[in-house]
Amino acid sequence: MPSSISRSAEILRDLLRCRSVTPHEGGALGILQKELRHLGFVVQRVTFSADNTADVENLYARIGANSPHICFAGHTDVVPVGPVEKWEADPFAGEIKDGEMIGRGAVDMKGGIACFLSAVETYLKTNSLNGSISFLITGDEEGPSINGTDKLLKWADQRGEIFNACIVGEPVNPEAIGDMIKIGRRGSLSGRLTVNGIQGHSAYPHLADNPAHGMVDMLDHLLNTPFDEGTHDFQPTNLEVTSIDIDNKAVNVIAAKAEASFNVRFNDIWDDETLKKEIVKRFEKGANAKRIRHGKSEPINYAVEWIGRVSPVFLTHDETLISLVSNSIEKVTGKKPELSTGGGTSDARFIKDYCPVVEFGLVGQTMHQINERTALADLNILTDVYGQILQDYLA
Ligand SMILES: [Zn+2]
Repeated sequence: MPSSISRSAEILRDLLRCRSVTPHEGGALGILQKELRHLGFVVQRVTFSADNTADVENLYARIGANSPHICFAGHTDVVPVGPVEKWEADPFAGEIKDGEMIGRGAVDMKGGIACFLSAVETYLKTNSLNGSISFLITGDEEGPSINGTDKLLKWADQRGEIFNACIVGEPVNPEAIGDMIKIGRRGSLSGRLTVNGIQGHSAYPHLADNPAHGMVDMLDHLLNTPFDEGTHDFQPTNLEVTSIDIDNKAVNVIAAKAEASFNVRFNDIWDDETLKKEIVKRFEKGANAKRIRHGKSEPINYAVEWIGRVSPVFLTHDETLISLVSNSIEKVTGKKPELSTGGGTSDARFIKDYCPVVEFGLVGQTMHQINERTALADLNILTDVYGQILQDYLA
């Protein structure tokens, strides 16, 4: 019975059986290590640590000593399964139902790893290797991404590793394999605004300073002008206010403080510095706008705090890599993929500093959801696409 499934499905099933919920390795890197050593790769396991985050295991494996050197990057960690009773099947069993394999990480992105591994296996059986192939696999993509790809790249760089091209196996296709390649991603910046007021009785507002009203003014100035109109490669920069918090249950009390969180997805017009400057400028304007409510004339008392690390924008300009991947996809699927920069961030934001990088993997529809799953047919198509990329890149 198990012999009837393809090699990529077999590897994926083995990986799905590992409970590698971020940041736990769960045995997933161990499986890759075994498979890759068997193929002749030199495999290294590297653990990174930092204050206030869990230690994370990573894997780097390479076969060949020459260029061109093509790297496949991915992650074996997965997001938590959520309410397990809502799943149609055990999320850590790799069960097959109606031609689909169900499990946490099926598309994001153990499936992509299984397909690339299977493609490499076939490639090495039928070709003499002209160049090098490597796997750069982290267990810290779904977590804080501090002890993962970023550090692993620096580690590899210090050891003289030079990458010529990289494919990240994220599930970027919206509907079917061949729909889309990601050639860039927007950046991401998060912050928290605090407006300080004076607590008081709602019937005596002149004795208080209502931070809720100040917050409305501040957010209005933050949101009332678009950041830009988008660029040739990117959609417009967008800011979402993600929460507004005033911890106050009493309707007759003016609270002392109001807080709001926001997240900006920004395009290549902006960077960390310029975007923060623009946001502060908007807050300054808001704080100094004439406050007609209750006759307050002094500026709003506020503070802004940036949360977490800023993810930079990445955009691949390497037309050779983009057209090679695009042509390989077309040869296998008959479709010309759209070149996109939409969606969230990925580890490609770190890889872009070392070599040209594009993202191509399975269909993303069920990623992070209950009943995450992939069609077995998709695993075969993706394996063929990766095989074609290897043929064309290492030709
Ligand atoms: Zn992912």
